[in-house]
Amino acid sequence: MSAPRPQHAPLTQFDVRDNCLQIGGMPLTRLAQRVGSTPFYAYDRERLNQRVALLREHLPPEIHLHYAMKANPMPAVVQHMASLVDGIDIASGGEQRVALDTPTDPGDISFAGPGKSDADLRCATAAGIVLNMESEAEMERIAVIGTQLGIQPKVAVRVNPDFELKSSGMKMGGGPKQFGVDAERVPEMLARIGALGLGFQGFHIYSGSQNLKATSIQEAHEKTFALAIRLAADAPSPVLTLNIGGGFGIPYFPGEERLDLAAVGENLKRLMPEVKRQLPGTQIVIELGRYLVAEAGIYVSRIIERKVSRGQVYLVTDGGLHHHLAASGNFGQVIRKNYPVVIGNRVTSAEQENVSVIGPLCTPLDLLADRMDLSKAEVGDLVVVFQSGAYGLTASPTAFLSHPVALEVLV
Ligand SMILES: *Cc1c(COP(=O)(O)O)cnc(C)c1O
Repeated sequence: MSAPRPQHAPLTQFDVRDNCLQIGGMPLTRLAQRVGSTPFYAYDRERLNQRVALLREHLPPEIHLHYAMKANPMPAVVQHMASLVDGIDIASGGEQRVALDTPTDPGDISFAGPGKSDADLRCATAAGIVLNMESEAEMERIAVIGTQLGIQPKVAVRVNPDFELKSSGMKMGGGPKQFGVDAERVPEMLARIGALGLGFQGFHIYSGSQNLKATSIQEAHEKTFALAIRLAADAPSPVLTLNIGGGFGIPYFPGEERLDLAAVGENLKRLMPEVKRQLPGTQIVIELGRYLVAEAGIYVSRIIERKVSRGQVYLVTDGGLHHHLAASGNFGQVIRKNYPVVIGNRVTSAEQENVSVIGPLCTPLDLLADRMDLSKAEVGDLVVVFQSGAYGLTASPTAFLSHPVALEVLV
């Protein structure tokens, strides 16, 4: 006997009525009419509100929550998120422009990422954005720019920690890394920040992404606080902010279970008193992208054709990897696994069929679902890919094969 096949974690964020997925308070079929064409991404405001509320419920109330907008930089989404969170984390000049269009205080916007251009640094300095410095060379460039502009730049040191965030989808700290300054070199850098007269804000310690294991995140939080307390001893002025990263994951694939957010929150509540003793006056920040927005979004395409090849049914849609690289399995996955997919206008039909969902691109990589059991579907039906509110459209090769771009709506 074979073991039961692993299932996708239950997705309950969207109601189903009369066999049709509901989003933004209306049936998906109605939304598709309203949007006017497929494919499209839809992000649900109320789901965004609920996710922020869930975090506020579980995290210590004094911790600030930042939105890492590269997860979903749609301006309407960023505006909405800005009304819910305490700050925005950006990673490019383009993101900087969108973030500065929100009512967020520039002092609550931080700019991370290697290879910031002098133009980016000048704009950020003039705006009063906090620059999370990724290298000593960047620090020197910032100092020159501050002198040229006659403005004291606000800077934080992004630290490449001397530990890793275990079981992360993507490791971004520990060992040699393209991000941040190695922890052992930070004391010298802090002295230089003082000598250059830069406006020292604090530390940014981000160690990984897409983590579903509470125990790994708990361990990283403990080590992050310990490292920050150690580094603070050499700071030129009090540590105003400590960004401890994020990396909270969401379930995408069969067998994955939800992060135990309550356990992460409990652990932080346990650690906070000692942190406050050691770092009085320091604002603790958690920065999240995916966890805030991914589950609020879906990607919708329409079935153009049903095709059968040697017994395997292919649903040919107007959407594909050019809009949703991650769902096709080509954005960092080692072994291709299916995202959760349903037929949006036949969510709970009794009749099921094993199908592959493909797009219009001339490459076998253009696969949105590989031999999945879905409700039996017809031409004109809507294929929905869940967990698509983060790293969707803007993380996809939209120019590949010159198909029309997908629309995005916030509902
Ligand atoms: C990408 C990134 C994030 C967001 O990561 P998620 O996995 O989407 O939460 C946060 N901080 C930094 C520095 C990043 O580069």
